[in-house]
Amino acid sequence: MNKKQTIDLDFDRQHIWHPYTSMTQPLPVYPVTHTQDNKIYLATGECLIDGMASWWSAIHGYGHPVLKAAMHHQIDTMSHVMFGGITHQPAIELCKKLVAITPNSLQKVFLADSGSVAVEVAIKMALQYWLSQGITTKQKLMTPLKGYHGDTFAAMSVCDPINSMHSLYSGFLPEHVFVPAPVSQFGQTFDHHEAHQLAEYFAAHHQDVAAFIIEPIVQNAGGMNFYHPEYLKTVRQLCSKYDVLLICDEIATGFGRTGKMFAVEHSQIEPDIMCIGKALTGGTMTLSATLTTDKIAIGISEGEAGVLMHGPTFMGNPLACAVACASIDLLIEQDWAKQIALLNDALSSLHKCTELTHVKNVRTLGAIGVVELTDAVNVEKIQAYFISQGVWVRPFGKLIYLMPPYISTKADIDTLSNAIYCAIEGSHFK
Ligand code: PMP
Repeated sequence: MNKKQTIDLDFDRQHIWHPYTSMTQPLPVYPVTHTQDNKIYLATGECLIDGMASWWSAIHGYGHPVLKAAMHHQIDTMSHVMFGGITHQPAIELCKKLVAITPNSLQKVFLADSGSVAVEVAIKMALQYWLSQGITTKQKLMTPLKGYHGDTFAAMSVCDPINSMHSLYSGFLPEHVFVPAPVSQFGQTFDHHEAHQLAEYFAAHHQDVAAFIIEPIVQNAGGMNFYHPEYLKTVRQLCSKYDVLLICDEIATGFGRTGKMFAVEHSQIEPDIMCIGKALTGGTMTLSATLTTDKIAIGISEGEAGVLMHGPTFMGNPLACAVACASIDLLIEQDWAKQIALLNDALSSLHKCTELTHVKNVRTLGAIGVVELTDAVNVEKIQAYFISQGVWVRPFGKLIYLMPPYISTKADIDTLSNAIYCAIEGSHFK
């Protein structure tokens, strides 16, 4: 295959919006011609070791032959067909697998097309459930600060109000109950004051609250906070005590990233509703799912509306379902937990960054490594430096982090973490 391409960067700059950018003063974008394994190839000739797994989704790396074969086969059979009034084997196979690998009580699956939409569906499920029970006061959500759940409006309304710039949309966004972000860190001692504080919030607000929504164990885009499993356990207990549903957003943490298949397993709890996405298709296609219990699904279905009011055009897209099945099989057929443990070992090389000024904290969990600086990073400058070092790392705020594909070798991780060390040491981030 000829990988040489002319990429019209002028057109891109004039007409195409990239994520979270200005149209008049955009950050540079790097033209990519192709990807393979854990490498990203630029039109300018560089080959970059990927530390991001395409926003945490490409767990098997790029161009995996098993995933490609699954997609080729499905394209030849049926790329898409509407899901209203129709069903198909790829969706059935996938939902069987999801019911099998997620917590036992999650039995009913809604397939959607992105993480944010899975969160919207979860919120609808919670609201509709309480309405179906004749309870009309439960119209709000409760959630910790520093969370991130997506960019659509309902999802955004439960993101950290400062990080997600709620002020831009105030008056339009629903107002929810924010509780303090988890403080006690994973692997350290749990401060029971956090449990008392949570209990006070539940006692004060439960009558208005349909659900508590939280990213289990790792608050991701809101700050890469690895928090204590006891916090989530406490939330589960309070949700049960006060008749508040628990929505766990596993979109970033699911499929092994934290060392467990799903991060809720660190706390040995089961949510009432769970969202998954990102790595679901091994980073090849956009697909997400919202799972819930029999009790909630039956409640909704026997309520006044009688149906769950959601149905996206590409719901259950067969191509995405087929590759998701292949990705899940690929993951569970290998000793993924051992591979994550090896990556965690390799990521510990980031700890040498603690000796540098401007480094506030270094932490790792599963296949996630984070270097937190004292000041925000100049993304344009540091990214240019990373390219010169042959790595793809995209920091945000004060955080330089790695969420590499699981196929990365120790040598790859060493190259990535060395580039991060040198970027900080050489002040390429200011
Ligand atoms: N929830 C979490 C925890 C996420 O990390 C993200 C994406 N970063 C989303 C929801 C939204 O997913 P998507 O970008 O696919 O809409």
